[in-house]
Amino acid sequence: MNKNNVQEQLKEVGIDILKCMQCGMCSGSCPSGRHTSLNVRRLIRHACKNPDVLRKKELWMCTTCYNCQERCPRNINIVDAILKIRTIAAHEGMILAEHRHVIKLLIEYGHAVPIDEMSMNKREQLGLERLPETVHKYPEALEEIKTLLKSCNLDKILDHDS
Ligand code: SF4
Ligand code: SF4
Repeated sequence: MNKNNVQEQLKEVGIDILKCMQCGMCSGSCPSGRHTSLNVRRLIRHACKNPDVLRKKELWMCTTCYNCQERCPRNINIVDAILKIRTIAAHEGMILAEHRHVIKLLIEYGHAVPIDEMSMNKREQLGLERLPETVHKYPEALEEIKTLLKSCNLDKILDHDS
């Protein structure tokens, strides 16, 4: 990251995480934090000064339930901050291996979960056509999806080293 740090970029879109007083109301309200390593209070503190917050795996563990944001006594738009940090991270290619895998599948097949032989057989047993009414059945639509994804520069994310 060059010119701005994360906190400055958040400020530019109206999110002031420096208002955080580290009370912990957010992490205490976080259902995801009960089951994962996500500590949203710590994440916000980290985002205030460390660009390496972009590499934090916990960044991707928020389910965007908004519990924290509704309860923050400083009215910080915590979820918006997390989504913005994710966007910055993605633009710099700092996404998880799982994201890369899904992007590759989307670009190649137009599906995050392409159909496989087992699913096609199952469909047949249920009296359905082997292929669903999606790009699997209409290759010309797949080309349109590929054009659309390219116009969004989704493939560029894969150009970065993870
Ligand atoms: S609830 Fe708000 S003020 Fe308290 S730690 Fe979380 S972000 Fe900071
Ligand atoms: S929005 Fe994300 S960080 Fe906030 S409480 Fe829900 S899961 Fe936790």
